Amino acid sequence: MPEIAFLNGEFLPIDDAKVPVDDRGYQFGDGVYEIVKSYNGRLWALDRHLRRLERSLSEVGITGITVDEVRERILETYERSGISRALVYVQVTRGVLPRRHAWTSASLKPTLLVTVRKFQGVPDELRRSGVEVITLPEVRWGRRDIKSINLLPNVLAAQKAWEAGAYEAIFVEGGYITEGSHTNIFAVRDGRLFTPQEGPHILPGITRGLVIEMAREEGIPVEEGPLSYEALLEADEAFLTATGEEVLGVVSVDGRRMGSGKVGPMTWRLYEMFVDRVERGMDSP
Ligand code: PMP
Repeated sequence: MPEIAFLNGEFLPIDDAKVPVDDRGYQFGDGVYEIVKSYNGRLWALDRHLRRLERSLSEVGITGITVDEVRERILETYERSGISRALVYVQVTRGVLPRRHAWTSASLKPTLLVTVRKFQGVPDELRRSGVEVITLPEVRWGRRDIKSINLLPNVLAAQKAWEAGAYEAIFVEGGYITEGSHTNIFAVRDGRLFTPQEGPHILPGITRGLVIEMAREEGIPVEEGPLSYEALLEADEAFLTATGEEVLGVVSVDGRRMGSGKVGPMTWRLYEMFVDRVERGMDSP
């Protein structure tokens, strides 16, 4: 079976996987998720993703499922797919209950969905040219560190970016950058990396974390802290990080050219270092 789903105990073709209308994920977006990528037949940074999932589950109080169980299901679904380069989507919702806001019951059975699809990655051309981004006012809730399936503001922002011919929309809150609709962002200035610090205002991206660790090991200074819109515009380079994008150069912000207008040398260096680590499976904490 190539592209495949696991839903509540069954392995199915993705199109055949169906949830009841009263699933709280469908009704309220009451659930959390992860996206894991595989390279050369191995799930990259799986432990880190599972740790973040465990935290998301605990922060929203979804019980009745363990991450060990989720891990086993992911591994089994992935193996059955036989796909070497895959994108694995993992979603846990609170479960099925006639619609009412409070769930009240302590014995709800969460709905676990895993899908495995082939993944092409960022086209080479785009990786070489770099991408344009726009900025938008931050309108999301105050717990963006939880990887919740409630993504309406992210979806609307990404659509605006697409309509503007840009690759990504970056949220700005009180003059400071938070993150993209589905990516984290870094600026580079005088050989140093700057990125917003972890906290409730951003998702602690797995790729973000790996890039910071990798840079520090290579002696590249990294400052995690407030990053103003002006500082981003004045940076020598900027790049996005995410599981899908890896390390992707930004060449313009709101139509204003960044640095040389080309993917910068630090961005390339980090991208190449990242690919090298991927090849060697170096993803342990
Ligand atoms: N921020 C947001 C809002 C995201 O949706 C994502 C992608 N899941 C990221 C950052 C990047 O996270 P990761 O590196 O774990 O894919």
